[in-house]
Amino acid sequence: MAQQYKALIGGEWVDSSTGAQFEVLNPANGQVVGTAPLCGKAEVDKAVEAALEAAPGWAATPVGQRSKVLLKAAQLIMARQEELAILETQQQGSPIRKTMNFDVPLCAEQLEYFAGVARSVTGQTLPVGPWCMSATVKEPLGVVGIITPWNFPALMVVWKLGAAVVMGNACVVKPTSVAPLTTLKLGEIFQEAGAPAGVVNVITGPGNTVGEALVSHPGVQKIGFTGDTATGKQIMNVASAHVKQVGLELGGKNAFVVLADADVDAAVQGAVFAGFFNSGQVCAAASRFFVHKSLYEEFCGKFVAEVSKLRYGDPMNPETVLGPVAYMEHRDKIESYIETTKRDGARLLLGGERSNIPEIRDGAFVGPTIFADCTPDMKIMQDEIFGPVVAVTPFDSTEEAIAGVNSSPYGLCASLWTKNVSGGLALAGQIKTGTVWINEHLMIFCETPWGGCKQSGWGKDLSTMVLEEYVMTKHIYVDLTGQPEKPWYAILK
Ligand code: NAD
Repeated sequence: MAQQYKALIGGEWVDSSTGAQFEVLNPANGQVVGTAPLCGKAEVDKAVEAALEAAPGWAATPVGQRSKVLLKAAQLIMARQEELAILETQQQGSPIRKTMNFDVPLCAEQLEYFAGVARSVTGQTLPVGPWCMSATVKEPLGVVGIITPWNFPALMVVWKLGAAVVMGNACVVKPTSVAPLTTLKLGEIFQEAGAPAGVVNVITGPGNTVGEALVSHPGVQKIGFTGDTATGKQIMNVASAHVKQVGLELGGKNAFVVLADADVDAAVQGAVFAGFFNSGQVCAAASRFFVHKSLYEEFCGKFVAEVSKLRYGDPMNPETVLGPVAYMEHRDKIESYIETTKRDGARLLLGGERSNIPEIRDGAFVGPTIFADCTPDMKIMQDEIFGPVVAVTPFDSTEEAIAGVNSSPYGLCASLWTKNVSGGLALAGQIKTGTVWINEHLMIFCETPWGGCKQSGWGKDLSTMVLEEYVMTKHIYVDLTGQPEKPWYAILK
């Protein structure tokens, strides 16, 4: 029988008030991995209450002590690396070689990074004049709500939770219902690492009830959200009634531009990673490949040859590099995009049909799919498909390519492939995205800020910049004159 998980509220493991649970399914085979409490508004209220109670004490805890909780949590994550990696693979479909060697170690590394840099966050003294001391201090916000997606279930939580907690906030986390189980484990780990009761709360349930109740709760000062642009818009709407801060890391339709002087082999290697890592279920994934016409056929041929080598299948097999996509309805949505693109007249270079091998056919698998000769009017060039399906399109002039890149309503990231690095730098300035890589794609580190512009959202995750997302800057002014009447009082006389 599948394990029944509980929610974490105020340091206690609890069921929802109705006792209802929902199933978390393994996308590789449809089996139940576990069940999680189907929480509702009642649990949101309790979790926010617990967080409000814990927040002042946690804010008053020296940052050095808060950092130690993160360092301990990082150790515990690594001590439970295999358990967490298996659970992540089972609930989300990402191959075990990735969850073991990428997701779980990065969760630990991210917490170590936050634990270090948080201790150097300072305010400023402001040179107003000798008659005063004017300074800024950074204060925790209070209670932060964190709402996360399913593509890197644990890592997306850690990106926000680590930063918010180390800066002295108490948090209520609402993970995705597709893959919430490793987030519940992270709650356990934070508790074991010494986070006081109520500092980390985890409640599970649907976005339109639990998520929305969290966004509209007056006790929550800020929402840190990662997910779809449409959901981000809904969250903004609800938050606006309370003038609540929201941080939004939303979708992307990211471009990969191969200029006429690019090293084609390097670009092809980069393209395989950019398009197909995590089966393309990466906000930063490249899905529009603009290739100069002089290299177009060579690039397409080599791209198909390299992608054909990717081993896809059972995600628990250590040799597998592409598992299923995260859930069945998502597979169906991706397949309908494939059919639309065929009808739109793009040239199918690879994939595009469901496999007949039974264990693949019955799971949420989508083989890597490449379409060439895509045109700007096609859906595949406009919508975020969020799967292993990419569009390649030729261009004549660099101006045309940059205009194509910027034509998207999204503005998350892009890459340029060229041997002329100074020319690439100049072009980087013309691209309207939060990140531009030159001769790389998908390189995201603890130290580098991550976040987009346009409909990809605002605010930053990662780097020291994310710490600023979870504090308020307060100005404090002290009169040093000791005079009862100041010279500027004359204006009222
Ligand atoms: P989603 O928007 O469907 O769900 C994200 C979270 O929001 C889930 O926990 C969901 O339950 C919750 N939610 C849904 N409706 C809500 C509502 N009305 N109010 C409050 N919460 C609500 O996104 P997803 O399908 O889980 O994730 C994929 C998306 O996430 C893609 O668009 C991807 O680009 C984006 N993403 C962005 C980044 C980034 O850094 N920019 C990173 C990862 C994923």
